[in-house]
Amino acid sequence: MTEHTLIAGPATPVTLEPRTNRHLIGGEWVDSSDGATFDRLSPSHGMLVSRSAKGGAAETEAAIAAASAAFDGGDWRFLPGKQRAALLSRVAELIDRERERIARIEVLESGKPITQALAEIEGAADLWRYAAALARTVHGDSHNSLGPDMLGVVLKEPIGTVGIITPWNFPFLIVCQKLPFALAAGCTAVVKPSELTPSTTVILGELLAEAGLPAGVVNIVLGHGEPVGATLSSHPGVDMVSFTGSTAVGKRIVAAGSGTLKKVSLELGGKNPQVIFPDADLDAAADAIAFGVYFNAGECCNSGSRIIVHEDVAEDLVARVAALSRRVPFGDPLNPATQVGAIISDDHLAKIDGHVRAAHEAGARVVIGGGVLAVPGLDGRFYAPTVIADVTPGMVVAREEVFGPVLSVLTFRTEDEAIRLANDASYGLSAGVWSRDVHTCLNFARRVSAGTIWTNTWMDGFAEMPFGGMKESGQGRELGRYGLEEFLEVKTVQMRVARGRSLWVDNG
Ligand code: NAD
Repeated sequence: MTEHTLIAGPATPVTLEPRTNRHLIGGEWVDSSDGATFDRLSPSHGMLVSRSAKGGAAETEAAIAAASAAFDGGDWRFLPGKQRAALLSRVAELIDRERERIARIEVLESGKPITQALAEIEGAADLWRYAAALARTVHGDSHNSLGPDMLGVVLKEPIGTVGIITPWNFPFLIVCQKLPFALAAGCTAVVKPSELTPSTTVILGELLAEAGLPAGVVNIVLGHGEPVGATLSSHPGVDMVSFTGSTAVGKRIVAAGSGTLKKVSLELGGKNPQVIFPDADLDAAADAIAFGVYFNAGECCNSGSRIIVHEDVAEDLVARVAALSRRVPFGDPLNPATQVGAIISDDHLAKIDGHVRAAHEAGARVVIGGGVLAVPGLDGRFYAPTVIADVTPGMVVAREEVFGPVLSVLTFRTEDEAIRLANDASYGLSAGVWSRDVHTCLNFARRVSAGTIWTNTWMDGFAEMPFGGMKESGQGRELGRYGLEEFLEVKTVQMRVARGRSLWVDNG
């Protein structure tokens, strides 16, 4: 008997015709030259969801060649912004049309709840609309104060062919945080989705073709980090890599890209603190904390997994979060009532459990949860919503990304100590502060090193607002105008506008 709220699987098992996914190279859907494939079984329902062509260096190089040819050909990069915008808007419409279909496959490959998958697809369509608007705003700058006969023009040009490498936790949303912005800038791309969640990126490729994107502008290679991602990262034909994933792989990509000095933008992991001051609205904070750590089963770069709470209110807050942890419905991700779904793989489930056990052995207190759970009617991987109290700053669970539904609670006495603890991490993705005092919130926002600061809220996201990490959480920014600028190169054009004057040797 569990203390949690379980949503069992359906009485009749879900049936599915598995998808066949192929690479998209130069406008053609192709198998791998050696015929190799890989399978994806659902982490929640156990059945085969997709069989995908397994790319190697040959497929990756062919895709890079197609993207480079599409860029060098000039039709796409010199297309008027108005026409690029129309195409990106059309993609948004097609995503809306296919929302249910994409969401269902996303659920079965990733294990996330259907309501969250639907919201993710809706958000992704919004990003295509936003990027469409930006496509008409690409412009540089001019200087007319350089001297009487000089005019300076600064052009903003597409950087070239971009390698886009994405993770499994928000497979459709993350490719849509990158690709429409790259296309708005006039770049071409080779996309490599995670081997655990390839299908919805392939559906996006189908929609791009239907929208009328010219062949070769977007290519998709399916397969593993080695060799597909590694080839993209080191290849001289790739001008930039835009990567979202773990910090460990991000560092490998930077090293691989150094041979050609390609630009690398990185959205990496986090160990995001939320500091709760004693004057905070504890009901609101507890609710946001439960959301922040259990959303997407904690498999979220923005997981608010490190709570730093004033010792006067720590017991009260932990009790509130534990009560919510009992109530949050978890189980069958295809059931609309479910809020916490399955864990991505057996390996990852074992890693999460290992973190919790190690914390317990190090002296922390497991208040609720702390184990693998079986959900009746499902052949799935589930971890109980877990709260760990009495965590100290040196414990591994306070420093490393667990990437599961596991909350670590630390305490503080003074504001300075709270800020020091918040900054005591190798990561710097996001951070939150809960207080009714505006000065406390602003001081926190100024002094904490994180790409995003939330005050009295957690994990809101907007197409208009830039997102990215400090320290080992990444480099570069996505979304907002910054998301477009990442894919633009600056070119300086200096023009002598008066006739007749020699530059150096006066031969008159
Ligand atoms: P991962 O780093 O294991 O894999 C990400 C992608 O990189 C996959 O497509 C994988 O095949 C590829 N890859 C693996 N080895 C590679 C190599 N040597 N060269 C090039 N590519 C390679 O990450 P994951 O497990 O898929 O995702 C979870 C991680 O992603 C977490 O650390 C999480 O915090 C991070 N993440 C960050 C953000 C953000 O915006 N900051 C968003 C989502 C996820």
